[in-house]
Formats: sequence, structure tokens, C-alpha cells
Amino acid sequence: MSASILSQAGYSVLLIEKGPYVSRLNTSQLEGDAYDTIYENHALQTTADGNIMIFAGSTLGGGSAINYACCIELPDEVRLEWSELGLEHCHPNSSEFNLSQEVVLNRIGAIRSDTIHHNGMNAKLIQGSKALGHKYFETKQNLKDTKHDSAGYTCFGDRYGNKQGMTQTFLQDAVESGCKILENAFVERILYKHTKHGVESIHRAGARKATGVLVRHNGQLYTIHASRCIICAAGALHTPCLLTRSGFKNPHIGRNLHLHPVTAAYGSYQDDVKGWLGAPMTSCNVEFMSGPNHDGYGARIECPPGKCFASSRLRICHSKIPFNHSYLYYYGIFAISSSR
Ligand SMILES: Cc1cc2nc3c(=O)[nH]c(=O)nc-3n(C[C@H](O)[C@H](O)[C@H](O)COP(=O)(O)OP(=O)(O)OC[C@H]3O[C@@H](n4cnc5c(N)ncnc54)[C@H](O)[C@@H]3O)c2cc1C
Repeated sequence: MSASILSQAGYSVLLIEKGPYVSRLNTSQLEGDAYDTIYENHALQTTADGNIMIFAGSTLGGGSAINYACCIELPDEVRLEWSELGLEHCHPNSSEFNLSQEVVLNRIGAIRSDTIHHNGMNAKLIQGSKALGHKYFETKQNLKDTKHDSAGYTCFGDRYGNKQGMTQTFLQDAVESGCKILENAFVERILYKHTKHGVESIHRAGARKATGVLVRHNGQLYTIHASRCIICAAGALHTPCLLTRSGFKNPHIGRNLHLHPVTAAYGSYQDDVKGWLGAPMTSCNVEFMSGPNHDGYGARIECPPGKCFASSRLRICHSKIPFNHSYLYYYGIFAISSSR
């Protein structure tokens, strides 16, 4: 987004991405191919103790290239908490924040929820929520066509140009305004010089001005100079690593990462659900969202796309029916919880 805004304002912008750009026609939308090319660490990233699997995008567009296209506005509880921590413009009454959110949702084509088609899994979630009298809502999607079968596997690339991720929206605007992109280029370090006056510092020992980056590309190290500023947007996992490698010592770097645990459950139905077809997360059960202390630290229940390989790792097969057949009838849900 910054690349787009700055390029359109006439600045000369270079966007550096460690992953590849995979064009639409070069994507097979096969799970194994996608994990190998556009996922962080081949989708095998875990916490050090191996207890939590972490998925993240490592490609142009980052997570937006592989995510489940579900667009939910930031809940008021979260906005309130952030504003109390000092981000005043996030307050639930902030019209500036509302406007910014609206601009982003519009640009990524997060279409109205009432025009969305629910696939087999989401239809079951809605049916179950209604039967139990639970609160639920239908979610917006940044997909052009939620009914198209392939909407279910845009998390493995977007061969049909259905998803309005960063590459189709903000990055496209950026490139049209002159932004250059360097892919497969790993930023090793941010380079800086010490200054005596004026420049805001994130290092106690004295002010620094970022002057460029050291980049590894095709096995060679290059120095890229920046005349005005560097924006470090390497995601929640890599941003602290990059800042630490660069020698920044702020004690908060890398200390406040919260992984919101996602627990998966699977059920088997009489009718075929075909959970890998159609838009994945079009509904959301919010019955338990406010949490035991009514502070928003609860869980949402949503349906992920049916990922055959990823879910086979989690599933114990008790039946003699072959996995590829029984998978037709499988239905998966996620409980995405917020933890402090
Ligand atoms: C499988 C999956 C499904 C999701 N589904 C949804 C959903 O339905 N709805 C929703 O709202 N959110 C969803 N998310 C979350 C959402 O996609 C992320 O929150 C969002 O992409 C984070 O954006 P970001 O810009 O902070 O970081 P990222 O999108 O992670 O981008 C960071 C980029 O920086 C690059 N990078 C990192 N280090 C370096 C370096 N040293 N040098 C150069 N480049 C580097 C990375 O390769 C990456 O491309 C999902 C995420 C995943 C993984």
C-alpha cells in the first residue's frame, strides 16, 4: 500500500521481495507446487517446540497471494485496545480509521456479503449455527466470483485472476505509477548512518538515518541506496529478524509477537461437501467471540479451504474407505482464538 501511495505521489519507489513473482498462467494451483514456491519455508514453518504450524506467504504480494480472501473489519474491541495503547486514530469512533478501512476494502474489491455464494462447508456452518441459535454473519470476500470452483484453491495461486490480492490491486497501481520491483531478493540488513540532529531514532545510543539496504540476489550481495526513507514491511515473522540483523537494539523488537492459535476439527457427512471448491471463508460463527471475560479474547469459528495434504497430516484415518474418497464428505472448521 505504501508503495502504491508513494509512487502515485511521484516518489521513486523500489519494492524488494525475497520470494518470487509467479504469474497467473505459471501457477498450477497444486498444493505441493504452491508450498514449494510461494509459502514461507515450504509451509513447514513451526514454532521452535514444533507445537504450532505457521503458514505465511513468501512471494510478491505476501500473505495476500495465498490467504483465504475473507475480509472482516477490525472489531471494535481490538480498536479500543489499540487506542488505549496509544494508537488513538484506531479508536472505534475514529472516522479517519473508518475511511481508511473503507478505501482499502473498496480497492481490494471486498464485495458485499449478500452476493456471496456459500460452498458446502460454509452452508453447513450456517445451518449448524442457525440450528443452535448461535450468532453468525456472512463475510465479505476479495474475490470476483465466490461461486467459481477455483475460488477454493486461490490459496495455492490464482490461475483465473479471481482474487483481488495486492498484486492485482495496490501493487498494480504502484507499478503503473513507476514503482520498480526486485523479486527473489533477500534484504540482509538495513544500512544507516549515525546523525547528531533531528532524525527520529529507534536506538537509544543515538539517532540514525537509514541510507539503504544490503540485498542478496542470485547469490551476490548488493548495496541499494535510498535517498529518502526505507519502509520495513517484512511481516510479523521477518520484520523483527531484519531489524535485529541490522543491529537495532530496541528491547521491544521481537518481544510482542502473539500467535493466535487455530484449532482444526473435522467432521464426516452423509452428503458430499467438497470442501475444496468455491470461496472458503464466507461465514463466521461469532457465538464465542467475546471470550470468557467479554473483552474480545474469544474464538471465531470459520471454514478453511479443504487442503488435502495439510489436513491429512492432522487427520487420523479410522476408516477403510480410501482417503481420496472419504475426503469428499469431509468438512473442516477452524476455531481462531485470540490470546493475550
Ligand atoms: C494461509 C493463510 C490464510 C489467511 N487467510 C486470511 C483471510 O482470509 N483474511 C485475512 O484477513 N487474513 C488472512 N491471512 C492473514 C493475512 O494474509 C496476513 O495478515 C497479511 O498478509 C500480513 O501482511 P503483511 O504485509 O504484514 O506481511 P506479509 O503478507 O507476510 O508480507 C511480508 C512479505 O515480506 C517478505 N519478506 C520477509 N522478509 C524479507 C526479507 N528479509 N527480504 C525481502 N522480503 C522479505 C515476505 O516474503 C512476504 O512476502 C491469512 C494468512 C495465511 C498465511
